[in-house]
Amino acid sequence: MKLFTIGPVQMYSHTLSIKSKIVPYFRTPEFSEIMFNTDSMLKKIAGTSQSSKSVYLTASGTAAMEAAVINCFSSKDKLLVINGGSFGMRFSKICDVHCIPHEDIILSFGKTLGLEHMERFENKGFTGLLVNHNESSTGQLYDIKLIRDFCLKNNMCLIVDAISTFMCDPFNMDDFGIDVAIFSSQKGLCLSPGISIILVNEKTATARVEINKPRTLYFDFKDYFINIARGQTPFTPAVGILLELNDMLGRMLKTGVDKHLHAIAAKAVYFRSRIREIGARLPNYPLSNAITPIIFDKPLALGIFNFLKDNFDIFVNPCSGEMENYMLRISHIGNLTFDDYDMLINCIKEYYETVEVN
Ligand SMILES: *Cc1c(COP(=O)(O)O)cnc(C)c1O
Repeated sequence: MKLFTIGPVQMYSHTLSIKSKIVPYFRTPEFSEIMFNTDSMLKKIAGTSQSSKSVYLTASGTAAMEAAVINCFSSKDKLLVINGGSFGMRFSKICDVHCIPHEDIILSFGKTLGLEHMERFENKGFTGLLVNHNESSTGQLYDIKLIRDFCLKNNMCLIVDAISTFMCDPFNMDDFGIDVAIFSSQKGLCLSPGISIILVNEKTATARVEINKPRTLYFDFKDYFINIARGQTPFTPAVGILLELNDMLGRMLKTGVDKHLHAIAAKAVYFRSRIREIGARLPNYPLSNAITPIIFDKPLALGIFNFLKDNFDIFVNPCSGEMENYMLRISHIGNLTFDDYDMLINCIKEYYETVEVN
C-alpha cells in the first residue's frame, strides 16, 4: 500500500516500530518526564515561548478546532471565519452549534484570499478570527502575515488551524501573531491519528481561557493546563501516539526542521513539474508544500482515484463538492521519495492507456 494522502500519511519505519510495542502505564514520573520533553520540543519547533500553554487532546483535529473555539470564546464574542472550503466551513458550523456570533468570508473555489476580502470587516467589533492556514480541501495556503496584521489592527484573537501546515510549511506561532494554534498527529507530524494539540499563548490563556466557562467536561482546557504542569493529561491519552510524537520531535530537532521542510518542498516542486504529462494543471492560488491539488479539464478524478486504489493499492485524496470529479490532491508529507512520484505518474498514464478517455 502506498499513501499519497495528507493524513494518515505513509508513516516512517521508526514510528511503525514504536507502534508495535506494548503501550505502557502512564501515571508515572517516567511518563511525565517524556511529556515535559515532548512539550518543550514541540514549543521550540512551533516557534512559541515555553510559557505558552498546551493541551494534548485524544481526539481528531475537528475536536481540537471545536475545543479551541469554546474555550476561547462565548456568545458575547463576534468572530470572523475565513470560509474557503470544507475546513473553513467546519469552523463556521462549530460557531453555529455553540451559538457564537460570526460572519464568514466565503471564498469561492479558485479565488485567492486578499486584503480586499477582509477590509469591509474592519472596526466592526469583531473579537476573533478563525482560519485554516492551509485550507486542505483546496490546498490554498493563506497569507498568514496579512491575517496577522488585520487581527493586530483590530485587536482580534487569532486562532489558526495549522493541522496541515505544521511541519509541512514554515511555521512560527509567535512571529505569525497566532494566539492559538492547532495541530494533529496524522498530518505533518506523520503519526497515527488520535492526538491533537492546541497551543495557547500566555495572553490568551489568562485573558480568555482561564475566565471562560465552556459547557464541557472533557474539553475544558483549564483542566489540561493544570495537568500538563505535572506532565500529565486529565484523562487517559492515546499513550502510544504520544510516544510516537516524542520520537518524531526528537528526530526532527536532530535533523533540523528546515531540512525537513526543504525535503517536502522539493517533492512538491518535482511532482508539480510533471503534472502536464498526465493532462492536469494547478490552480492559481498559493499552495502549501503539504499537498498539490491537480485539476483535470475532463471529469476524470474519480475514475483515476478508483483505478489507483483497485489496481495498485495507491491512495490519493479525492475532493468533494463542485470539484469532485475534476480535482485530486496529492500529498508530499510522509515517507515518500521522488521514485514514488515517478511511479504515481506512470500509474496515472496507465489509466489513460487502459480507459478510453474522451
Ligand atoms: C485534517 C484536517 C483537520 C482535521 O480533520 P479530522 O478528520 O477531524 O482529523 C482539520 N483541519 C484541517 C485543515 C485539516 O487538514
